[in-house]
Amino acid sequence: MPDETTDVLLIGGGIASASAARELRDGGFDGRITLVTRELDVPYHRPPGTKEVLRGEAKPDASPVLPPEWYEANDVDLRTRTSVLALDPAERTVRLQTKATLGYDRALLATGANVRRLAVDGAGLVGIHYVRSLRNGAAVRRDLEGLDAPRVVLVGGSYIGCEAAASLASQGVSVTVLMLESEPLERTFGPEVGAWVRRRLEAGGVEVRGGVDVRSFVPVTPDDDESRVAGVALADGTTVPADLVICGVGAVPDVMLGKRAGLTIGAGGGILADDRLRTSAEGLWVAGDIAEPESALHGGPVRIEHEDVAARQGAYVARQWLGADEPYAVVPYFFSDLADWVSLEALGAARTWDRTVVEGSLDDDAFAVWLVDGDRVRGYARFNGAGDLDRARDLIAAGGTIDAAVPAG
Ligand SMILES: Cc1cc2nc3c(=O)[nH]c(=O)nc-3n(C[C@H](O)[C@H](O)[C@H](O)COP(=O)(O)OP(=O)(O)OC[C@H]3O[C@@H](n4cnc5c(N)ncnc54)[C@H](O)[C@@H]3O)c2cc1C
Repeated sequence: MPDETTDVLLIGGGIASASAARELRDGGFDGRITLVTRELDVPYHRPPGTKEVLRGEAKPDASPVLPPEWYEANDVDLRTRTSVLALDPAERTVRLQTKATLGYDRALLATGANVRRLAVDGAGLVGIHYVRSLRNGAAVRRDLEGLDAPRVVLVGGSYIGCEAAASLASQGVSVTVLMLESEPLERTFGPEVGAWVRRRLEAGGVEVRGGVDVRSFVPVTPDDDESRVAGVALADGTTVPADLVICGVGAVPDVMLGKRAGLTIGAGGGILADDRLRTSAEGLWVAGDIAEPESALHGGPVRIEHEDVAARQGAYVARQWLGADEPYAVVPYFFSDLADWVSLEALGAARTWDRTVVEGSLDDDAFAVWLVDGDRVRGYARFNGAGDLDRARDLIAAGGTIDAAVPAG
């Protein structure tokens, strides 16, 4: 017998779990809900970590998903600072850090992702940062404010690197972006759009260096592991001076609990689920960064690391529990801001696209781009407000062609 029981257990304290809790109560569920998270804080939005919090414009506690008092007011048993150590889907129990076992009727596994760490010499030097939590963003800010005219290096040319670079350069900080690929955001939107993003970053004072491979971090004091970082050594033998480094080199889904519980891991590294987000274990669903559900829209399992997707999937699972029974079929949506220079919104999770088609001109401030696979549109992004997001969403959902999206002539 478990030490205690709950009707619904939400494992993980991100937006997926919080959205499930809200949807359940909004939908009239009056059973016991327990949300367990190892974080110190109530579930919060992560995007400000490379934006407002990094710029020092917002405190890390300023963006909770739900007001902190919501949980008590809605009789949700929120347990922060509590790790789930083991999951037993056959017994429908978890073991908590407190050593207590907690039984559940239905559970959502939403343990999210962790940062991928660079395993190179000097990785532990002072001044090398990763941003996953808002507290991480605030820690970078504190470190930065203690330095005189710091030279900041961003490792990685994806969203975290570009957003952090823009945030700091917009405040006059000296910033260099280093990345393996040639152009920032190239992996998501292709080299032409990547070159446009590069020009935007450069116009804001960011130095962008593509095609470079980081080999190690160089300390101020040689052979001292506790020294501050002084530079980033590259494979070409050169060293880029740096007083502070932020690494944005990807995230790794936190599948440890699920894997040990015997759940199946997909090719995308997440927990495989059906098109209703049900795992292979009875009574156990997944949502958010960790989930890799079957998707008719994408023609197979797909894992996506976007805030809106995590929120919608969490709420979707709650609706399933309340009796709904339609497959999950939302076109993924993503947003990003590079200071106030670039605002982008994207649709789809175009795993396979072979070309991009620009609507408008890359010589302009605002344009849209379609990601095309054969003649089918798989994804879409609009920069600085151009284009028609609703029309693009409908076309992607309907499996439309590029000819329908951008008529010739
Ligand atoms: C700096 C940053 C900026 C971002 N900006 C954007 C953006 O602009 N737009 C966008 O769409 N997306 C953005 N994202 C991505 C978005 O934040 C994620 O997709 C989203 O947070 C995923 O939510 P989740 O609930 O699946 O997981 P998470 O937010 O990762 O939450 C998982 C939770 O589970 C907890 N947990 C894990 N294991 C255990 C355990 N064993 N026991 C107890 N608790 C556990 C974790 O501590 C964490 O609280 C950004 C992410 C970061 C890091």
